[in-house]
Amino acid sequence: MAAELIRGKDIAAAIQKELAEAVQQLAAQNIVPGLATILVGDDPASQSYVGAKNKTAHALGIHSEQHNLVANTSEDELLALINSCNENKAIHGILVQLPLPGHISESRVLSSIDPAKDVDGFHPVNVGKMLLGEQCFLPCTPHGIIELLRRSGVTTTGAEVVVVGRSNIVGKPVANLLIQKREGGNATVTLCHTRTKDMAFHTRRADILIVAAGVPKMISADMVKEGAVVIDVGVNRIGQSESGKAILAGDVDFAEVSKKVRAITPVPGGVGPMTITMLMHNTVQAAKMVNKIAL
Ligand code: NAP
Repeated sequence: MAAELIRGKDIAAAIQKELAEAVQQLAAQNIVPGLATILVGDDPASQSYVGAKNKTAHALGIHSEQHNLVANTSEDELLALINSCNENKAIHGILVQLPLPGHISESRVLSSIDPAKDVDGFHPVNVGKMLLGEQCFLPCTPHGIIELLRRSGVTTTGAEVVVVGRSNIVGKPVANLLIQKREGGNATVTLCHTRTKDMAFHTRRADILIVAAGVPKMISADMVKEGAVVIDVGVNRIGQSESGKAILAGDVDFAEVSKKVRAITPVPGGVGPMTITMLMHNTVQAAKMVNKIAL
């Protein structure tokens, strides 16, 4: 039987509708959430991600400013721009698109963002609070995955969850959220990476399998349990259509795996739209927090 599709695009649209209403309510109090995005260089994928973030912000009534800096911008120039956004009262959230060019220290840059405006949730203060289970900005892709599961009626409590990938932006934080003692957590989590001895042994045990490795179709049907729920985070550009559009593939062999599992996210249209949506959620939350409005 074919798997149920977990349509991130539809779930993201529902959340965006809620956010647009929240933005309207804020507007009635003369508050307009503001987002500054900063892109250094001209990487096409990053350009398209930042463009989509600004477009979504605009559609929701969020004020957005896009700062495009040339690839050889110095770290000091970037830090000065972040500082001016930290000081700007019209800006509630700051997003620096990663990756940054090699001559700029990612950790210095992320640490320079005011934690109260860190809507990507990458500042060490927010990472620490997330680990402790305290109120903070949650990183967008992991938070989006938790929301996808929750709104699709997939219970994490007591579930065996296997996460493939241990990056700071997806693997580690999603594993962390899943072990928190609250709704959307309470799972038993295994984290796999390139040094994992027998990955299929672990993935086959998963009730919920989350894959964020960046390797096209690395998860084949024999690596998943019958009836599992599969979240494919991978976005891999595997070619170009005649019109020049990127052809995308996930980390999961969708055609084969979808015949065996209970539910699965498509690529595109799965996790991707949720990432942008949770960024908007954090920006609205930032505007509420600074204005002391209940979340
Ligand atoms: P990353 O920083 O490159 O990390 C990849 C992780 O996967 C690493 O921990 C790596 O292990 C592990 N890995 C790679 N190949 C593996 C293999 N053959 N077996 C086991 N583990 C392997 O990547 P990322 O930033 O987390 O992104 C992962 C994927 O998700 C990419 O395709 C990216 O485009 C996509 N992504 C999508 C969204 C979205 O919104 N949809 C957001 C973020 C990322 P080691 O640590 O041992 O090297």
